[in-house]
Amino acid sequence: MENHQDIAGVLLRYHRFLIVTHQMPDGDGIGSMLGLGLALQKKKRQVIMTCPGGLPENLRFMPGSDQTVHPDEVPSDGYDVVVALDSSDLGRIEGIYEKIPNDVPIVNIDHHMTNKGYGTYNYVDSASAATGEQVYKILVAMDVRVDSSIAICLFTAIATDTGFFRFSNTTPTTLRIAARLVEKGAEPGDISEQVYEARPLESLKMLGRALDTLQVDKSGKVAWMEIYRDWLSELSLDEGQAEGFVNYARMIKGVEVALIFRESSDGRIRVGMRSKGNFDVAALAQALGGGGHARAAGCSLESQSMTEAKELVFGKVYEIMGLAGD
Ligand code: AMP
Ligand code: MN
Ligand code: MN
Repeated sequence: MENHQDIAGVLLRYHRFLIVTHQMPDGDGIGSMLGLGLALQKKKRQVIMTCPGGLPENLRFMPGSDQTVHPDEVPSDGYDVVVALDSSDLGRIEGIYEKIPNDVPIVNIDHHMTNKGYGTYNYVDSASAATGEQVYKILVAMDVRVDSSIAICLFTAIATDTGFFRFSNTTPTTLRIAARLVEKGAEPGDISEQVYEARPLESLKMLGRALDTLQVDKSGKVAWMEIYRDWLSELSLDEGQAEGFVNYARMIKGVEVALIFRESSDGRIRVGMRSKGNFDVAALAQALGGGGHARAAGCSLESQSMTEAKELVFGKVYEIMGLAGD
């Protein structure tokens, strides 16, 4: 297992980079990718940046996002090293990793405790609130001068994965790094507005429908909501527009586990999971083939109906809780 200094040394050995982050990307994935990409360009390196599914609209304000390419345009050669960010296993970069030649090393930089250690080099640190924190440490070790563009990307990465410094993963180190990034030109108010207050009207209409499905089980400890594929087409929205909805389920008093079940366009059911007590949703997600953190995790279930998916997930939840369920 490598640390940020080792990884800085490894990265500086190479000249042509392919940088990728996970599917259905969030602020941490995209912010880390762009922050590292822009920094490597300052070091005169060639950089290709991509993620499966492309960038959500509300993250395109970040500098460098216009340089990202669609996964279909990623060549199967022309880079000496691949850097995978915020991705706990190779399934998260499905559609891209298949193209990577066997002799090209992979540098795995991530903070999920469920990370599979799939890289040639692995810098996995579950004490980091965001992959953006790890990237910041690497940049300092590489002696890169962090400019305002890089600062905006890394601040967005860290702020989004910590719910703007409200979640329990926020540490003194998180806040120190964030403070440095603000000194370098990241503006928290502006970034918060870009990420959270630029939704289309239809996205809030969908939230209304999702809130209508919100329920709590008999124990009062498990709350869930549902999102149906038809809604996305009716409202002309993509799946990314449901980002953050699961947090409403966690707001209910007494709830320890919050779940969202989303019918995806690829026929899978994506399950988002959040915890407010001691319940470890990373363990729940892992038992279902997914991954994540103790308080925020997820999985993707193949060929299941909504009813089957709920049965499967609730069965596991009650097994872990030691409750009999219904
Ligand atoms: P989300 O609910 O999509 O915001 O994801 C919450 C956390 O779970 C993030 O850290 C994700 O990286 C992780 N996660 C979500 N879905 C999956 C999956 N299918 N496989 C592995 N990790 C996942
Ligand atoms: Mn992520
Ligand atoms: Mn992350």
